[in-house]
Amino acid sequence: MNIHEYQAKEIFRKHGIPVPWGEVAETPEQAKKLAADFGKPVVVKAQVHAGGRGKAGGVKLAAGAEEAETAAGKILGMEIKGLTVRKVLVTEAMDIAAEIYVGVLMDRKLGGPLFMVSAAGGIDIEQVARETPEKIHKFAVDPLRGLRSFEARNLAFRVMPDADSAKAAAKIFPCLYQAFADSDASLAEINPLIVTKDGEVWAIDAKMNIDDNGLDRRPEIAALRDADAEAPEEGEARNSELSYVKLDGNVGCVVNGAGLAMATMDLIKHHGGDPANFLDIGGSSSPEKVTTAMRIIYADKNVKSILFNIFGGITRCDDVARGIVEAVKGSPPPIPIVVRLTGTNEEEGRKILGKTDLIPAATMDEAVQKAVELAETPGGTA
Ligand code: GDP
Ligand code: MN
Repeated sequence: MNIHEYQAKEIFRKHGIPVPWGEVAETPEQAKKLAADFGKPVVVKAQVHAGGRGKAGGVKLAAGAEEAETAAGKILGMEIKGLTVRKVLVTEAMDIAAEIYVGVLMDRKLGGPLFMVSAAGGIDIEQVARETPEKIHKFAVDPLRGLRSFEARNLAFRVMPDADSAKAAAKIFPCLYQAFADSDASLAEINPLIVTKDGEVWAIDAKMNIDDNGLDRRPEIAALRDADAEAPEEGEARNSELSYVKLDGNVGCVVNGAGLAMATMDLIKHHGGDPANFLDIGGSSSPEKVTTAMRIIYADKNVKSILFNIFGGITRCDDVARGIVEAVKGSPPPIPIVVRLTGTNEEEGRKILGKTDLIPAATMDEAVQKAVELAETPGGTA
């Protein structure tokens, strides 16, 4: 789950990280009032679940209340990476002398938390990692001990511009680690951590991704979910207990079981195609789940063919077939749909599908090949 900058900053504050004053506004008038009450220059920042807001025009300096109103007017309603901005953070403008990157994430290869710092902060850290990886210092944190003060000092002295700011940063790093661990985060990032012209150290950006599997035991974090700010398909999928991940290809996939879904995507790639999504409809799938899955996939304009790959066990093929029929009822499907059903009640499933325009396939290989071909020849038939 993603949370907004202002929410991550609140968590950081609770953990003792210095974060400048800031309040959220949903209209330009509110932004104006906040800036007027604050009485000093502010920055108006888009609150969306996307990085690179600065480059996209979603971060604007405002000298006073009027400017804050204008900035908020421009930013509210703006689209950044496909997400509409509905809130802005109005926050104290700082005089920046240096920008440092600080982050901790759950590293798969390491099998544990990895703390990272770089003097090349403020900009896209992925770019730094690609082009000049030597500028990022990494440290594997022992999860039982947390980040200890001498370890934090060691890291801080590598990236901070002077001894005073290094000492201040060394106090902040363990707090960031603790915020990460206490929230079941998969990522907690300050980019940039700044040193002001007066030598003060502040976190002026905050990003956290929370591991969904931790939300049940962190109700205060689960409550931070902003459904309005998520991609609508992802929210719909979650509400229907479908695991859905949008990808960039054009073959829409509906599969039962995560393993089979992965294998299906591999086979699509093998046959020269590109999956448009990962979608696992799960174990016992009702016809409703299938219709929801279809709706989610139809909403993706890149999809040129749909592939159903169902291995019936607890999932019954007739249930899936009824769901598909229900979803295409009334009007013929706008794009070709290839269906491979095997396992529990497959005969019944095929009978139900027999009366429709759907394209049957006997094996997984045949199904994938057909779906890939159809995605490449728009409007064609296999
Ligand atoms: P991001 O682009 O989504 O990562 O948003 P950030 O919060 O990191 O802001 C982007 C950039 O805007 C920062 O790296 C700073 O260079 C600049 N910026 C943000 N806040 C301030 C501020 O208070 N004062 C100044 N001068 N620049 C700021
Ligand atoms: Mn940033």
